[in-house]
Amino acid sequence: MATEVADSVVRESDLGFGEEAIRHRKELLECIQCGTCSASCPTAYAMDYTPRKIIAALRADQLERVLRSNTPWLCASCYYCTVRCPAGIQFTDFMYLLKRMAVERGLHPPGSPALYQAFVNTVDRYGRSAETELMIRYFLSTLNPLGLIKLAPFGLKMLLRGRFPLLPRRIKGRRNLARMLEYIEEKGEA
Ligand code: SF4
Ligand code: SF4
Repeated sequence: MATEVADSVVRESDLGFGEEAIRHRKELLECIQCGTCSASCPTAYAMDYTPRKIIAALRADQLERVLRSNTPWLCASCYYCTVRCPAGIQFTDFMYLLKRMAVERGLHPPGSPALYQAFVNTVDRYGRSAETELMIRYFLSTLNPLGLIKLAPFGLKMLLRGRFPLLPRRIKGRRNLARMLEYIEEKGEA
């Protein structure tokens, strides 16, 4: 009976979810709400809803609330939740899906995709992340130069420890990487 109820609720969510989400529907129903994902997640403390709560909310047809939350944007893609889930749920993939949906529907928290866009721009230019330029691009695109100033002492410490190169370094074979990324984008897998 419980599964029937969850089944009907998630089917309603499917209307807003699209085909890709229907593939995830089975996973939603198989979650046993044990909380292992939330307990394992290194960024759960800062999330509006922990991974377990995200699944519970989706099962309760709260898609919009989920898309407006900061949770997908704080996922560090460490895959810890995925490898520890006793039900085999690929929660990390879910986070990617939710991010895409939030952007497509304009429901993401303000500024959230900006860091990702800045990262993609630096990878396009250098073939790898360029931390200094990444942070400058991010704070300028969010019209928050004060944020950059606040982070300056931390950036300086990282710089002195050689963890934060001032000048970007290009990788070898950048064109090959660009071709690979183009191919993935064409296939719609990015
Ligand atoms: S670890 Fe897996 S089964 Fe447990 S709450 Fe998280 S997603 Fe659900
Ligand atoms: S992949 Fe994301 S949601 Fe899962 S444990 Fe890591 S940070 Fe948390």
